[in-house]
Amino acid sequence: MTHADTLATALIVDDTGRVVGVTARRHGEDLAYRARGAVVLTTGGFADNEEMLADHAPHLLAHGRVSDGLDDGSGIRMAAALGAATRRMGVVELALTALPALAVRGMLVNAHGRRFVNEDVYPGLFSVAAVLTQPAPYWVIVDEEGFEAVPERERWGVVPRFVSETLGELEGELGMPPGALESTVGTYNTHAARGQDPYFHKDAHWLRPLKGPFAAIDPRAGFHQGGRPSAGAGTGVAGFTLGGLRTTVDGAVLDVSGTVLPGLFAAGRAASGIHGEGYVSGTSLGDGTFFGRRAGAAAAAGLRSAP
Ligand SMILES: Cc1cc2nc3c(=O)[nH]c(=O)nc-3n(C[C@H](O)[C@H](O)[C@H](O)COP(=O)(O)OP(=O)(O)OC[C@H]3O[C@@H](n4cnc5c(N)ncnc54)[C@H](O)[C@@H]3O)c2cc1C
Repeated sequence: MTHADTLATALIVDDTGRVVGVTARRHGEDLAYRARGAVVLTTGGFADNEEMLADHAPHLLAHGRVSDGLDDGSGIRMAAALGAATRRMGVVELALTALPALAVRGMLVNAHGRRFVNEDVYPGLFSVAAVLTQPAPYWVIVDEEGFEAVPERERWGVVPRFVSETLGELEGELGMPPGALESTVGTYNTHAARGQDPYFHKDAHWLRPLKGPFAAIDPRAGFHQGGRPSAGAGTGVAGFTLGGLRTTVDGAVLDVSGTVLPGLFAAGRAASGIHGEGYVSGTSLGDGTFFGRRAGAAAAAGLRSAP
C-alpha cells in the first residue's frame, strides 16, 4: 500500500543498530512505520535544499533547478545522521540552454569571446565546461547559413539577441574585448577551411568557415517550447545534484568506515549512483530504475532469509 502526503522524518534503529522503520508526518499527525524487512530510501537529491547546496554544490545556487521542488535531501540527511557515508556530493548535472544544433554549426564562446569546448559533444559536457570553468555570459555565435540550416520548428523558439554584418560590430554589442571575436572566428575559419579543429577536434562534418552576417544567441533567453519559457530562462542554466549516499551495487547503504548499515538501502538520486563528472541523459532514470530494482530485490531477499 502507498501512503501519499506522508513525509518521512527520521529512521528508527533498534538496540542492535539495525534500521527497523521510519517516523513520519501526515496532515499534522506523527506516525511510525515498522519495516517488515528493510527501509529503501528513494527520496531524490538535494537540488531544492539551499543549505546543502551551499555546503556541497554551491555552483548550483545561482541557477535554475531541474526538479519537482521536493528534492530537499531529507533521505540523505536521515541516513547521514546514522553515520552513512556520502559520495560525490559536489557533482551536478547542468544544462545550458544553448541549442546543440546551432552551437555545433557555429561556436560556443565565453564572455571573452573564446571557444573552450568541442561543440559537437553531448550538451551536458559543454554545459559543465561552460559553467564550471568559463567566465559568463556564454554566447552561441552562428552565421546565417548555419542558422537557416536548422528548420524553424527545431529551433525551440531560439532567436538571435544580436545580428551584425561584421564580427567587430558584434563583439562591441556583446561587450567583449576589441578583436576577441574576430581573432577566435579568424583562427577557427583558417583551420575549418582545411576541415580541421586542432584546438577542440570538432568533427569535420560540422566544420566550414563562418561568414557574415553573424548572429549571437543568448542562452539566458531559454528555449520556448510551445511558447513557454524553459527552466533555463534566467541565468541560462538549470541543474540537479548527482551526489548522495554511498551504497553497494545492491543499494545497501554504507557507513563512513565502509560497513553496511543493516536494514538500510537507497537508490536513485538519494544515492550517488554511477555518476562521476560528465552527466549523460537517461542515467538518472537508470539509477532509479536499475539500481532501485536491485535495492528492492536485496531488501526483499533479506526479508525472505530473516528468521
Ligand atoms: C524536467 C526534467 C527532465 C528530466 N529529464 C531526464 C532525462 O531525460 N533522463 C534522466 O535520466 N533523468 C531526467 N531527469 C531527472 C530524473 O527525472 C530524476 O533524476 C529522477 O526522477 C530521480 O528519481 P528518484 O526516484 O531518485 O527521485 P525523485 O523522482 O526526485 O523522487 C523522489 C520522491 O521522494 C519524495 N520525497 C522526498 N523526501 C521525502 C520524504 N522525506 N518523505 C517522503 N517522500 C519524500 C519526493 O517528493 C519525490 O516524490 C529529469 C528531471 C526533470 C525535472
